[in-house]
Amino acid sequence: MNRREFLKLIGSAGLGVIVSQTPLGRIIPVVKAKESSLPLEDERFITTSCLLCPASCGIEARIRNGILLSVRGNKLHPVSRGGVCAKGLLSPHFLYHPDRIKSPLKRKGKRGSLDFVEIKLEDVLEEISGKIKNILEKGEGKKIYFINGRPYGLMDKLIEKFMKFINSDSLIKEDIFYSIKRIIKEIHGKPLIPVFDIKNSNYVLSIGSDLFDGSYNPVGFGKIFSYFRQGREGKRGIFVHVEPRYSVTSSKADRWVKIKPNSYYEFLLGVHYVIIKEKLYDEEFVNEFVEGFNDFKSFIENNVHIQDIERRTGISGGYIYLIAREFVQNKPSVCIPGFHLISDEKYFETLYLAYVLNVITGNIEKDGGVKFPYELPYKKIGGVFEEEHDFKNTLELDNKEIPEILFLYHSNPVYKNGNRKKIREFLNRTGLIISFSPFFDETSLYADYIIPDHTFLEKWQDAPVPVVSEEIACSIVKPVVKPLFNTVHTGDFIINLAKKIDERGEKEFPYRDFKEFIFEGLKGFYEAETGSIFESEFESKQLKIMEESGFWFPSYKNLDEFYDKLIQTGGWFDPAYTKGEWRRILKNKKFTLKKKYHKKPRGKDESLYLYVYKPLTISYGTDSIFPYSHEIIGFHVNIMYDSFCEISEELARKLGLKDAEIIEIESEFGKIKTRIKIVEKGDENIISFPLSLGHTEFGRFTKNIGENPLKVLKSVENLSIIKIKIRRI
Ligand code: SF4
Repeated sequence: MNRREFLKLIGSAGLGVIVSQTPLGRIIPVVKAKESSLPLEDERFITTSCLLCPASCGIEARIRNGILLSVRGNKLHPVSRGGVCAKGLLSPHFLYHPDRIKSPLKRKGKRGSLDFVEIKLEDVLEEISGKIKNILEKGEGKKIYFINGRPYGLMDKLIEKFMKFINSDSLIKEDIFYSIKRIIKEIHGKPLIPVFDIKNSNYVLSIGSDLFDGSYNPVGFGKIFSYFRQGREGKRGIFVHVEPRYSVTSSKADRWVKIKPNSYYEFLLGVHYVIIKEKLYDEEFVNEFVEGFNDFKSFIENNVHIQDIERRTGISGGYIYLIAREFVQNKPSVCIPGFHLISDEKYFETLYLAYVLNVITGNIEKDGGVKFPYELPYKKIGGVFEEEHDFKNTLELDNKEIPEILFLYHSNPVYKNGNRKKIREFLNRTGLIISFSPFFDETSLYADYIIPDHTFLEKWQDAPVPVVSEEIACSIVKPVVKPLFNTVHTGDFIINLAKKIDERGEKEFPYRDFKEFIFEGLKGFYEAETGSIFESEFESKQLKIMEESGFWFPSYKNLDEFYDKLIQTGGWFDPAYTKGEWRRILKNKKFTLKKKYHKKPRGKDESLYLYVYKPLTISYGTDSIFPYSHEIIGFHVNIMYDSFCEISEELARKLGLKDAEIIEIESEFGKIKTRIKIVEKGDENIISFPLSLGHTEFGRFTKNIGENPLKVLKSVENLSIIKIKIRRI
């Protein structure tokens, strides 16, 4: 079978033709089954990066006869170091998914229907640029909205540049670091992204983090943790994890601290109480660097009583004392606030307390504490927003102004929003909607144009690696196969659209395509005269020592050689770090503690709560398109292609529920039905539910599988844990 025949197979009948007849009838071995018919001598590996989640792990694509057979990890990648998660291995399924949109589409029928017709790219550009020109003539650029669901790297900069070009700051960035940056800005005066230096720490206190579940870098955290535990001779770090659910992260902890739902805030008040009462804070550091400490101290002394904390959290005072003492006695230690804090009604206050714990114990800018990695040295791009511009992270449905045009890039607000009615009304009132989704998702059904993006296996892109240690890194994504269909790189589309709007476009966007734009931006890495293209672990260690001693010897002679090696090895990184650059990380030389976050502890709460979590294989929305994902998420409880909620044995006994019974869960926002799975461990006041299921679109392997818990929550940005009632069906 040659490439042409293979593509015909994909294009004509979809992968349905190679859906195996397993009992489940849903498993697609994809190209595996056809592998033996492809000539072995043609096989090669192409280095690129996985973009199925923000981690951007390095991968090598195994290509035979122009067909992607499988992927494996790239050992040179400084963070993933040859690791790939179960989802990353499914990359070929993404490329060859039978339900990809194959060409630009224009709406023919009603919004919300699947009634679209194919349209030529030239015509789309003509029609959309015409609409934008009209809006700009009226001076109403602000009515053009753009939701960027992946606001990182040069694609983010290109979108910013485009929005500036059309005079609009109605740019929404669905940034995974939005909340922590907001809190750091309050305390530092600058919206920095911290890194919790697990690798060099002695004691990690995780407050509701999902490091080994659906975190933003599960492979990176896995590598860091193996070093934390076994990589240092004679030293093994201690990992203490606080969460109501017995999650994968809980199971990997040295000590899992079971806590009552909606009480992370009080737990941290208890830890601070011990630190202050026992004078365990770092007095010298506090005196030199912390403003507002005395107010914080009196707030804790006057309002926190350990018995109240015990009642709220379900954790004994003795245990809280032990954890607080251990945290200080085992320095360097680090407190990591995680995803599940979002389920606390006092989300920002909790995030604040967790971070302040690192500050007052002097664990900032220390090996094993909190650090602030440098920004990637992209070449400065003109015509973008100021660095500190405050972008919103979610569409405000109560906003009176309705967009004239709404662009959606990797964003699916209909699925993510608890208030379905309101979001649909909002979209129905929006003038024109343009989606770049490669699949029909819940929101693209409301679009007037769908310009399907290439998959990451068909395009050029840069991918900043979310930090898990002080080193910074950027992966390079490149096409490993030619685009299978008539899809369009969203970056190319934006560049061409700007050129069509008016004569300024050619000047502001003098790039042939997005590839040219990327290489212009990456020139900054070459000019920075620091860091290196990806190297082996041994060479990386050498580079760090050399750079930190003031030496730098590049492994390339000129820019062309730099680009060649960058593409070959998979990216650029810089492991060097200088601690204690206080001017860089503090706006006014001090950490400022703010009274507005000092809230009194809440009383005992015995309510039943819905507790949602992100399973690793379907943690970022689009990944639930893989049938294998549906087999993995319920593996531990033997449930596939369906939702399930976990309840503890204790709760099941209390409510008289049996395993596999169907229940209805009701909150003030709606109702959902699901099967129950009784689990041995976990708090008796929670019902745990996986996120990312229950799509009503998104391809045949995803549609109508399971329930979407967001239907009974406010929205994905506000998972404030919800009181529920349950009823046996
Ligand atoms: S962690 Fe994310 S980027 Fe890495 S292999 Fe898995 S899905 Fe891909």
